[in-house]
Amino acid sequence: MKAPNATPRLPGHRVAVYPGSFDPVTCGHLDIIRRAAKQFDHLIVAVLNNTSKKPLFTVDERKALLAEVTSDLPNVSVDSFRDLLVHFMRASEAHVIVRGIRSVTDFEYEIQMASTNHQLDEEIETIFMMTNPKYSYLSSSIVKEIAMFKGNVQDLVPDEVRAALIAKFAD
Ligand code: ADP
Repeated sequence: MKAPNATPRLPGHRVAVYPGSFDPVTCGHLDIIRRAAKQFDHLIVAVLNNTSKKPLFTVDERKALLAEVTSDLPNVSVDSFRDLLVHFMRASEAHVIVRGIRSVTDFEYEIQMASTNHQLDEEIETIFMMTNPKYSYLSSSIVKEIAMFKGNVQDLVPDEVRAALIAKFAD
């Protein structure tokens, strides 16, 4: 697996964090990761270890899948956090949060989160990337529902994730 924060830090090094549940990572997430990685020197994909949600994949499984599907992206690393995102940002010396927007519904929630994080630390900016229209309907929940009923999730998730979903829901 990739070491967290593998890229060396130089002055002016721009580090961004893409936080989320990634339960599991979809092609929509991966599209945002690829595009965001081009905009920053280093992108940390940070899995939220949220004890109040009941995830399908453990944090370690989600991190392992993310590391596999981003293995061709040298400036992307994978990590996790369990308390406030702003604390993780500070520890990672990152100032930019990347989030994806699919719809107006996403936007309403995201603006609340962005304002809260800015209130907690005014050095932190949230940058939104519009979904690739191909994936505007795609969510981890939809993918899990399809996989649970043995539907075909090809083209919705990377192959490694498809195999992991099939294994999870095997009888
Ligand atoms: P969270 O539980 O934090 O919303 P998710 O894993 O569902 O975590 O999503 C992480 C981020 O990726 C969010 O900003 C979400 O809006 C974005 N995202 C999820 N699916 C897509 C998609 N298909 N296209 C673009 N962005 C997406």
